[in-house]
Amino acid sequence: MAIRTAVLVLLLTATAVGSAVAAPQARREPARVPEGAAGDAVPLPVVVPLPRPRPITAPAKPPEPDPKILAERDACLERLAVVAEAEPEPPAAGQPACQAQDLVRLSAIRLAGGERVAVAATARIRCTLAEALVAWMRDDVAALMTPSGGRPATMVVDTSYECRPRNRIAGAKISEHGRGNAVDLRGFVLADGRSVGLTDPIADKTLRSALAKSVCARFTTVLGPGSDGYHEDHVHLDLAERRKDFRICQWDVRDPVPLPRPRPKLDAEPDSEPEQEP
Ligand SMILES: [Zn+2]
Repeated sequence: MAIRTAVLVLLLTATAVGSAVAAPQARREPARVPEGAAGDAVPLPVVVPLPRPRPITAPAKPPEPDPKILAERDACLERLAVVAEAEPEPPAAGQPACQAQDLVRLSAIRLAGGERVAVAATARIRCTLAEALVAWMRDDVAALMTPSGGRPATMVVDTSYECRPRNRIAGAKISEHGRGNAVDLRGFVLADGRSVGLTDPIADKTLRSALAKSVCARFTTVLGPGSDGYHEDHVHLDLAERRKDFRICQWDVRDPVPLPRPRPKLDAEPDSEPEQEP
């Protein structure tokens, strides 16, 4: 009987402690008395501690805007307003490595003569990159296309801001696209409807070579066909900053692929002889 009383006291104490402390809670197994063993030694209650409740994590909030970065972006937008159509974009939130506060939405570029070049799809990029892209279009691309009678009407953009690893390889470093510091271009559509694909071997090679040279002079990274196998149908441009101003310019301007010439049929060649593979 004395043992039972002691167990009862223990149980009451455990209950009191359990109600006074909200966390961690514990699941208590009732003391079990084996059948037919009434009066024998009673096992002590088993207290199984539960894991601490996990704190409720607040949803990821975008970082507080840096007034200096926003002021620089606004000054950049003022400069762009003269030569382009661009709007401020809300800061990109999400992963810390992909946060960008000075994003803008570039939708068109005005050439020196006032002609409008649409940017499609709209590029969501840092304002500094937008300025570099607009300057390249106005000062280089438009002039390079004039001799062939082409006036660019649309700059065809593939990808701009996108939070992802380089070349979409899991575990790789975050791409410059994840900082709004890169843009992928397909080419241009001219005012007369013709297209100039930057990586299209059929397009004028002299023009493509001149575009490659001019773009490598303006951007710190240029990746096109022949670079790494991921840029065979577009050209990647970015303004990555590296030590000692190291630059990457890898764009192999491809020759047009000649069509195979029909093989002349020799009279001496018997029709019935099967061809031998080398
Ligand atoms: Zn890219």
